[in-house]
Amino acid sequence: MKLSKLAIEIAESPTLALNEEARLLRERGEAVINLGIGEPKNKTPINAILTAAAKLSSGEVKYTPVDGVPSLKKAIIRYTEENYNRLVAPENVLVTNGAKQSIFNILYSLLNVQDEVIILAPYWVSYPEIVKMCQARPVIVTPEDGTFIPRLEDIERAVTSYTRAIIVNSPNNPSGAIYPPALIEGLVDLCERRGLYMICDDIYHKLTFDGKVAVPSTRFTDKDADNSHIIIINGVAKIYGMTGFRVGWVVAPRDIVRVMANVTAQMTSGVSPVSQAAAEGALNGLQSVTESIRLQIQNNRDVLLEQMRSFAGARLIPPDGTFYALPDLKAFGGDSVQLSQFLLKKALVVTVPGKEFGAEGHIRISFSGTVKDVTEGMERIKWALDPSSPNEIYIGDRKMIRDWL
Ligand code: PMP
Repeated sequence: MKLSKLAIEIAESPTLALNEEARLLRERGEAVINLGIGEPKNKTPINAILTAAAKLSSGEVKYTPVDGVPSLKKAIIRYTEENYNRLVAPENVLVTNGAKQSIFNILYSLLNVQDEVIILAPYWVSYPEIVKMCQARPVIVTPEDGTFIPRLEDIERAVTSYTRAIIVNSPNNPSGAIYPPALIEGLVDLCERRGLYMICDDIYHKLTFDGKVAVPSTRFTDKDADNSHIIIINGVAKIYGMTGFRVGWVVAPRDIVRVMANVTAQMTSGVSPVSQAAAEGALNGLQSVTESIRLQIQNNRDVLLEQMRSFAGARLIPPDGTFYALPDLKAFGGDSVQLSQFLLKKALVVTVPGKEFGAEGHIRISFSGTVKDVTEGMERIKWALDPSSPNEIYIGDRKMIRDWL
């Protein structure tokens, strides 16, 4: 069979592959704990349910303007003003099918064949794949000092005449790191000096811990929305726990949004009006929803840190945001794919290999589930890997004895 070379080269989503394996195990009655997937456990916020239900019961579920329903765009404009201190026009906003499609649409609109996009490791798995789907080249910059914060000098050194954009994701999936304000300021300055776009994937920007904040990049520029080098991505998936509604958005100079809207028009014709109504409900509704998700996740993070304290050999830089931790488990072998497979087989815990995020030797643990998932999941991981942990454990109602260490 002859298929597209470009399409064949796109990597399978590792999270989805592991989820499928976990689903099959669960179907066989195994007590699997999923610390792989990242989505808050909350129910859809009531305001989102009400606005979506009203839209549905109106019976008027038709095509919407390609770039988004005007009333949702209005809510996004207000959100941008409140969170980024930035006045934007409806022409600066494009609503997409999740933040993931925002990223695709931006890159597809900006890149020519052979162009380069700088991606900062550890990075979200989809960035390099989407860049490749646009026939461009991902250029990875990795922190050399064992931290999760790349150095500005290294980023600047990676800029060539082909570089078009730098993708910045802070708070960061998979590390949970928040980039310091000086780095964000330096990146804004670098992008403005070198004529690059700074694509800020801010999907986790309100999920931060212990009073720490992710400083918005817009603080460091006086350029207006149409002359800005900053492109902001956001969405309802994480901060309102509305992953299934598939609503994200882009705030960008209108010349880019115009091209992006044409891309959307030929690809999806826009987002379902029911989902857009739900997003509008969430944005205009009770904002305490986000704070309660944040508090629950911060509590889970504390439980995880407590568990890590007695995990001999593992090294963790505590996450300051998101709902992911990326412990260094090189002491248990450098191959993270093998490690994740081992943990699923022996301990029935789903994790994601760090290799997929440009962080070999690490595994990503999601703590977006229940406290019980985090506690039991971590106990099982320690049992499987750490010889100083007790060598008997209950998995479901089966008593398991470790006989491989
Ligand atoms: N960006 C990052 C960094 C993410 O982690 C995710 C979801 N895992 C997305 C974007 C995609 O969000 P959405 O579900 O809105 O497409």
